[in-house]
Amino acid sequence: MNSSESENREPHRIAVVGGGLSGLVSCYRLLELSRGSTQPPQIDLFEQSDRLGGVFGTVPHDGYLIETGADMFITNNPGAIRLVERLGLTNRLIETNARYRRSLILKNGKPLPTPVGFDLMAPRNLLAYVRSPLISIPGKLRALSEYFIPGRPQADESLASFAIRRFGREAFERMIQPMIGGIYTADPEKLSLRSTLPRFLEMEEQYGSLLKAIRKEKQNPLKGADNEASGARYSLFLSFDQGMSVLQDSLIDAIKGHVTLQTGVGIQNIERKQNRYLVTRCNGTTSEYDGVILALPTHAAGQILSQFDPDLTAALQKIEYASAAVAVFGMPLSNSQHPLDCFGLVVPAVERRQILAVSCTSRKFNGRAPEGHIQLRVFMGGAMQQELLEKSDEELIAIARQELADIFGIQGPEDFSRVVRWNRAMPQYHVGHQEKVHFIEERFSTYPALEMAGNGLHGVGIPDVVRTAEQAAERCWQQFNRSA
Ligand SMILES: Cc1cc2nc3c(=O)[nH]c(=O)nc-3n(C[C@H](O)[C@H](O)[C@H](O)COP(=O)(O)OP(=O)(O)OC[C@H]3O[C@@H](n4cnc5c(N)ncnc54)[C@H](O)[C@@H]3O)c2cc1C
Repeated sequence: MNSSESENREPHRIAVVGGGLSGLVSCYRLLELSRGSTQPPQIDLFEQSDRLGGVFGTVPHDGYLIETGADMFITNNPGAIRLVERLGLTNRLIETNARYRRSLILKNGKPLPTPVGFDLMAPRNLLAYVRSPLISIPGKLRALSEYFIPGRPQADESLASFAIRRFGREAFERMIQPMIGGIYTADPEKLSLRSTLPRFLEMEEQYGSLLKAIRKEKQNPLKGADNEASGARYSLFLSFDQGMSVLQDSLIDAIKGHVTLQTGVGIQNIERKQNRYLVTRCNGTTSEYDGVILALPTHAAGQILSQFDPDLTAALQKIEYASAAVAVFGMPLSNSQHPLDCFGLVVPAVERRQILAVSCTSRKFNGRAPEGHIQLRVFMGGAMQQELLEKSDEELIAIARQELADIFGIQGPEDFSRVVRWNRAMPQYHVGHQEKVHFIEERFSTYPALEMAGNGLHGVGIPDVVRTAEQAAERCWQQFNRSA
């Protein structure tokens, strides 16, 4: 056997950088793909912090189950649910609580119900929309005239421009902006419709009007389902009996023993060295790999690649991220004058408050608070109120407490309060995002087995993140099989 043959028999070495959901799923998918292979790859996962999971986190606390990051995932995009099935977690899934499946929108300081069937932008139940006090009669007439406004689909357009063009300014400011702001912590004047909510663009493209599209969908019993919730389409969301970290823990269990898990080890640089990648840890030590999956926010990936490909770094860093803080409270339900019989509240920017949204976490899913108590998560900051993030935890708690008192009449001793900060964790897909993604992906495709996963390019939600990670692992694996 000559030396090159013996080299060929060495297992491929893959570095996965980032131990959030996308890093864990990348490892799991690589293991699935290499199952039965005579030469499974050697995989090292590097996570700079001392825990795996990234923005995922479920913390048990005195009978509460606190979700510090994501608290549910959508099922109309199959990425996550297929993973859940493969992990054998189907029996751990729980549905949202049908009893409280509605949301509120603040108007002139008062929490009012979102009309039944309102789907982020478009009313699916016209009667409920017409009866809602959230917008004025002229505002409703303007919104309903959407049916007759000819479609003018544009290559890329801001969410605000699209919503105002179709439904008018009042519907945008009072209902659409707070819904979208609450989900993406974003400025809808900058957010790209095509990159965030393409289904609405497709509705305009196909039917000329969203209301016409909804009418058609209603004639199709499968698509017309779920018109009776208000706010996000809550019946489409699931979580796990013991919180979202069931998914993260199960992934860790599945890869442990097959993947070298290195927490507290950040990566600072990647360079090409002959046919391999030279990966430098933050402590200065280096190792060589045949493939690298960057399961990171794009700003972090850009930093690591700055000596390797400055143009790619510049493109990755053009994708902006917003920071958010979540003030979490646990308290007796009797502290509130309002029944809090809902999944949460969103706050329009025109209300000029200091919070974006309130999630009644223990109303969404059972088991998140002791009997007779409630867990509330108050979202602050985001793209439109970044300056709030400069405040201390105590100040943020005080602001959130004051807002809860004003809006819901909440007062009295709490079981706990705490702030969770997510710095530069929420990517903002601004108008022009698709071109940035195109450039970035073209560039990555010129480097064999160097892949990008995570929430920076193709979707912020868990199913999209799972898909990017699986695809990154698959491309990496194919590259080795092609060259084997
Ligand atoms: C507050 C909040 C609530 C959310 N709620 C929901 C929800 O309810 N439903 C939903 O579908 N989605 C939700 N999301 C979005 C979703 O949770 C995220 O998009 C997803 O979890 C991101 O996973 P990720 O692996 O791409 O990134 P992250 O979780 O950010 O993981 C990246 C990891 O990389 C590590 N890292 C960074 N730089 C380096 C380096 N140089 N070397 C090594 N490691 C490094 C970080 O420490 C981090 O652990 C929410 C997000 C946030 C912030």
